[in-house]
Amino acid sequence: MPPVAYRCSNCLEHTLTREFDVSHFSVKCPKCGEFARFIHEGVFDQYEAFEASPPEDLDWGRLGRLEKFIVAEGIARQGKTMDDYDVDIHDDTDDTDDS
Ligand SMILES: [Zn+2]
Repeated sequence: MPPVAYRCSNCLEHTLTREFDVSHFSVKCPKCGEFARFIHEGVFDQYEAFEASPPEDLDWGRLGRLEKFIVAEGIARQGKTMDDYDVDIHDDTDDTDDS
């Protein structure tokens, strides 16, 4: 397997290369010093594409950065479509983590 690049989700600048292919992993970023989530380059590319051209069916600008990465990950790696997120993200009444 060729090396995969992962981008720091905190500073969005530092890139690490690993020999494994996962959606993300967490490690202390040598650039910004945060224990940050490093995002697979394919997911990051999707994130940047949405930043440049937000999807019509989703209120992209309302999402937090981590939520954006979760959406991008689903699109890039799990074969999801925007329809999947139209349900998940706009449903504020069934969020058990919301306190
Ligand atoms: Zn960083």
